[in-house]
Amino acid sequence: MTDKTQIFAATDDILKFLENNTNAMFMLDSKFHFIYINKNAQKFTRRKVSTLIGKNILTEFPQFKKTSFYLHYKEALKTQKEVHFEEYYPPLDIWLSVNVYPSKDGLLIYYSDITDRKKIENELKFQKLILNHVSNCIVITDKEQCITYWNKGAESLFGYTSDEIVGRKIVILLESLKNTVEEEINALNAGQIIETEWNCIRKDGRCVWTKSRVSQFFNGKGEFTGYIYIASDITEQKNAQDNLLFLAHASKTLSSSLDFRQALQSVADLAVQMLCDWCAVDLYHDHENIELIAVSHREPKKTKWARKYRKETPPDMNATTGLAKVFKERAVEYYPLITDEFLKHSVKTVRERKIISYIGLRSLIIVPVSLHGTVVAAITFVSSSYKRLYTQDDVRMAEELAARASLAIENAHLYQRAENERERLNNLLSNVPGVVWESYGRPDEATQRINFVSEYVETMLGYTVQEWVSTPNFWLTIVHPEDRERASKEAAHIFAKGKAGISRFRWLSKKGKSIWVEAQSTVIKDDTGVPIGMRGVTMDITERVQLEQKKDEFIGIASHELKTPLTSVKGYLQILERKMGTSPDAKAKNLVAKSNVYIDRLSDLISDLLDVSKIQAGKLLFNLSSFDICDVINESIEAMASHTSSHKIVVEGICNQIVIGDKNRIEQVLTNLLTNAVKYSPQSDTVFIRAEKKNDFVIIAVRDSGIGVPRAHQKNLFQRFYRVEASSTQFTGLGIGLYISAQIIKRHGGEIWVESDEGKGSTFYFSLPVPKKRSVNGRGSKR
Ligand code: ADP
Repeated sequence: MTDKTQIFAATDDILKFLENNTNAMFMLDSKFHFIYINKNAQKFTRRKVSTLIGKNILTEFPQFKKTSFYLHYKEALKTQKEVHFEEYYPPLDIWLSVNVYPSKDGLLIYYSDITDRKKIENELKFQKLILNHVSNCIVITDKEQCITYWNKGAESLFGYTSDEIVGRKIVILLESLKNTVEEEINALNAGQIIETEWNCIRKDGRCVWTKSRVSQFFNGKGEFTGYIYIASDITEQKNAQDNLLFLAHASKTLSSSLDFRQALQSVADLAVQMLCDWCAVDLYHDHENIELIAVSHREPKKTKWARKYRKETPPDMNATTGLAKVFKERAVEYYPLITDEFLKHSVKTVRERKIISYIGLRSLIIVPVSLHGTVVAAITFVSSSYKRLYTQDDVRMAEELAARASLAIENAHLYQRAENERERLNNLLSNVPGVVWESYGRPDEATQRINFVSEYVETMLGYTVQEWVSTPNFWLTIVHPEDRERASKEAAHIFAKGKAGISRFRWLSKKGKSIWVEAQSTVIKDDTGVPIGMRGVTMDITERVQLEQKKDEFIGIASHELKTPLTSVKGYLQILERKMGTSPDAKAKNLVAKSNVYIDRLSDLISDLLDVSKIQAGKLLFNLSSFDICDVINESIEAMASHTSSHKIVVEGICNQIVIGDKNRIEQVLTNLLTNAVKYSPQSDTVFIRAEKKNDFVIIAVRDSGIGVPRAHQKNLFQRFYRVEASSTQFTGLGIGLYISAQIIKRHGGEIWVESDEGKGSTFYFSLPVPKKRSVNGRGSKR
């Protein structure tokens, strides 16, 4: 082959190659005439190659002059430098990548269709634009966790710009969670979507809580290229939750103890676990002294140091910030961020600077604790790092805690006051020589409970207060067996009536000693007036009872001893009276008659005293028979008439009624009432008597117009030796007549009572049961 043929062959090869090239290619001379157009270029020209070769591109395609293609070609020709550009080609709706290679003779232009790539690129551009407008944080990493995409949301959440972070590993945001992330990658690679809450660290060191959704990321061609993280900031929500949880725990702690100092120390410990690095509580005493009552730090040695430091260096109350401000101005001190710059300016001495750096002040809240408008304490929260900078929400939480702490302090004060009062009352009551008590429930029921009994009970009976309050119905179990039934009935009666009452019985001490007591009880009622309990004082009256018994014994013996000689004297007087029957010595006769009257009076008195001692000893016996009450009344009137000339006895009404009883004893009652009516109405001359039947009773009334009985004395008249003091000197008597009468009537199943107006007179009544027809047998018996 010659050189020429060799050259032709080579040119032929090149042309073949150009012809078969998948890209479009054509050549222009320096005047823009087509020299060569390959097969693929025809789709751009849409003309046959033969019709274009030698023709000028500008005349064949007049529009071409207005395109940027023309400008680039011109430039390449002019500068003789390669030009590369990408351009949209509207006639075919395609994107082209164009390479222009200039030479002195013209241009070689090389086109390739890049429409597909361009579309993907545009789509990505569009997506990025959208992602940047999404407020959520969106981060894309490659398979090795290196960040490849970082949107504006991520920038504002973590503080890093895209330039700063793209290319770095994502774990720098999740320091503490490195391992977890590694673990989770496996799950991600298995195609799972992970949704989780992560505590992340911002560029400035602050912690942010994110709620993140992570999944595999695929590019436009569907290839797995890495991971996409979509996260939102839930720090506020998380902190609010923590605050609520803390408040709930703190409230529980505060309300579960009455020792508020201890409770506040527990709250401080809790705060350190949940929200801060330091927590302290100071009390403000008398508007001048500050006492640190609680302090806590995660490291015990720092807590100890704080206590020691505060002991040696009390807070300066003249300061215009900090505790001094909170106490004096009742204001909250709140520093969301304490910068190093700020500290440099505000802290003067090296020592102070050292202390503050040891404490680590980064964010601070001090809230006042007020009680009735006065600041009594302050609670301090300190965060030592950027991890937690307090917000207004945290201030509100701290104020809420202060309100609860104030309640706790008030409760503790109230409890202390109540305790002191109780102590005082106990001291007072323990000095009362009697048992003060309070009980709930019916006194005769097993469910009755003593809920208070004064300590004197231990001295009196030997049983502890604990035994009294823990054993139901304890008081009755230790009553002397002989008195138990009566004492139980009397207490039940007082309870049922709902009125105050007195009951006497014997208690047996723990050592078995019998002690006479007198219980004065009142009834406790509920809002509707229903009795629910009793309270009262029970006094040891053993000595008094013993004295009374001795007195009764003496009266019994004395009256008995007097009765015998008196009977003899009476007999001698009767002999003397008979002997003097015919004697003209009127004076002597009169003296004997008078002696008889006094002897009778003395005899009556002694009989009464004997009756009293019989009643006391339970030995008053009755001779029962049935008789007409009308007869007894008439006989009593007759007997009275023989004794008294000052009054006449007027029967106002009478009924024949058979009763069963001791006729003499009933007559004794009537005589007593008539005698009193006469005795206590010296200014009048009439006494009235009436008998009438009412239901199953016959009621006898003796009325006078005498001095009357003051209301306050009326209920006591029927007690032994009771006399109305104001009139006792004016009228002789022993105060036992009504007592004996009352005992007689009671034993007959009746009642005795008085109605009286002071200064106007009295009416004494007594009732006797009317026997049911069959039981009237007239037979005498003793009881
Ligand atoms: P005595 O009359 O001997 O003192 P009683 O037991 O009979 O004793 O009476 C007790 C007290 O009751 C009397 O001391 C008197 O104060 C008062 N009393 C009794 N009956 C009357 C009456 N009819 N009018 C006023 N006071 C009376």
